[in-house]
Formats: sequence, C-alpha cells, structure tokens
Amino acid sequence: MADQMIRSDYRRRAHHLRALLATAVILLLPTATVTVEDTDSSSIISRFQEYLRINTAHPGPSYNEAADFIASQAKSLSLNFQILEFVKGKPLVLLKWAGKNPALPSILLNSHTDVVPAEPHKWDHPPFQAHIDPSSGHIYARGSQDMKCVGLQYLEAIRKLQASGFRPLRTVYLSFVPDEEIGGNDGAAKFANSEIFKNMNVAIILDEGLASPTDNYRVFYAERCLGGWSLKLQVRPVMGLSFTTTLQWRIYSRASRVLGDSGPLSLIWSRLD
Ligand SMILES: [Zn+2]
Repeated sequence: MADQMIRSDYRRRAHHLRALLATAVILLLPTATVTVEDTDSSSIISRFQEYLRINTAHPGPSYNEAADFIASQAKSLSLNFQILEFVKGKPLVLLKWAGKNPALPSILLNSHTDVVPAEPHKWDHPPFQAHIDPSSGHIYARGSQDMKCVGLQYLEAIRKLQASGFRPLRTVYLSFVPDEEIGGNDGAAKFANSEIFKNMNVAIILDEGLASPTDNYRVFYAERCLGGWSLKLQVRPVMGLSFTTTLQWRIYSRASRVLGDSGPLSLIWSRLD
C-alpha cells in the first residue's frame, strides 16, 4: 500500500514535472516546435526506423529519399537547412543550429547517409525493414551502426536540448554526406573544398564513431594514423661509387597526432651523413 502511494506520488510529480517542462519550452522557445512528448524513447525509435528503412545501399542508394527525411527532421527542429548537390543526384544536407555568438568558430557534426550493400539471404530479417526483435529489443537493419545511429543521435540530442530550453553558444552544423562508403570524392571532399565550408568557420568536427549498448563510449583520435615511428637504414658503400662513407637515412613521419587527424601519412627522407 505504502509502495503504491509512493508510486502514485511519483507519477503525480512526474506529471507535474512534464507539464512544467512543457510550459518552460513554450515560454523559452516560442518558435520551437519540439515538445517533451517528441523526445520520448518510442518516438525516437520510430524516427530511427524510418531512417533505416530508406535503402541507401550501394550501388544505387536512394539519396533523395534520405535527403527528404533529413529535411523533414530539420523542419521539425526549426533548423535552417540546405540541400547541396556538388554532383547531380548526390545530395548533401547541411543543417544549422545558430549559436548565441555566431562570431565564434563553429562545431560540425558529420555523418554519412550511404551504407554498404546488404545480402538479404544472409540476414535473419530483411536489411531495410528495421525489425525490432521483441525479446531482445535489437533492431536489425543495414546501416544501423554505420552510421545512421550517429546521424539520428545528433538530431535527437538537439531535440532534447531544445526541449530543455538550451541554446548553444557556438553555431552547430550537421552535415549528412553521400558516398562515404565509396571514397567520398563526390560528397565530403567537394564539401570540404567549397566556399560554403570555408564560411562556416569550423573549429572542430565530430565524425564517425561506434555505437555502444552501455553508457561507456570509446573515443578515437588519429584513427588509422601511422605516425610515430622511425626507421634507420645502414647503407654499405658499393665499389665503384664515388662516396666511401657509410650513409644513414631516417624516415620521419609528419603525422601530427592532432585530435581527429586521420590524414594520409607523409614521409620525409633526410640524409644524416
Ligand atoms: Zn561509416
């Protein structure tokens, strides 16, 4: 009985808290359309399934359908967005959450919309059905981890922050890029070299990561960076050549190991004689 009363009291308080939060949202964000109900887990999972059901597998990804979905999410969050087509038929969607101080360097959250091919006969459930296993709660879908979960989490994080009345100090951009799985030449590469990107004044970019079933997340930096090693070669004099001293060469890695640097390794050869 006491337990029931505690639960009833808890429900009443939770109800009041939700009502209070909803009122706060209305007062603090008169133009925002996000409500507390939009941020409950079943709504979030439904939106995730909707994104997963768009077949963006190579070859022939449904990029326009994915772009329309992202655009609809941007509208629901009252975010400005533009669909850029550096290459026809390969839309890149760019969202902008304006910061309180737009003069500050911005933050870019990137994700790709394409996924690698799926072979349906090898799957327990069709790869673009986004089936939820009722016993485990697992969602089966190609791209659920790589990397539609990350793209959707960016959107849902903004939704929750908006519902709490938060507004960022810096402007936050979200880019949903095509063709990552086939090299990114027609997507991220053209975007990174564009005037649009330059004018965004980006300070830091967060990109692909791994999903985690717990609250612990791995953080990577300088992924696939081969820096930090050196190699010494002893070269013996060869009869007939003009030099007689033993030469020593060293290979320097220029990989900087700066946070997020995953650029190609470049080598400098220098003679140490
Ligand atoms: Zn990926």
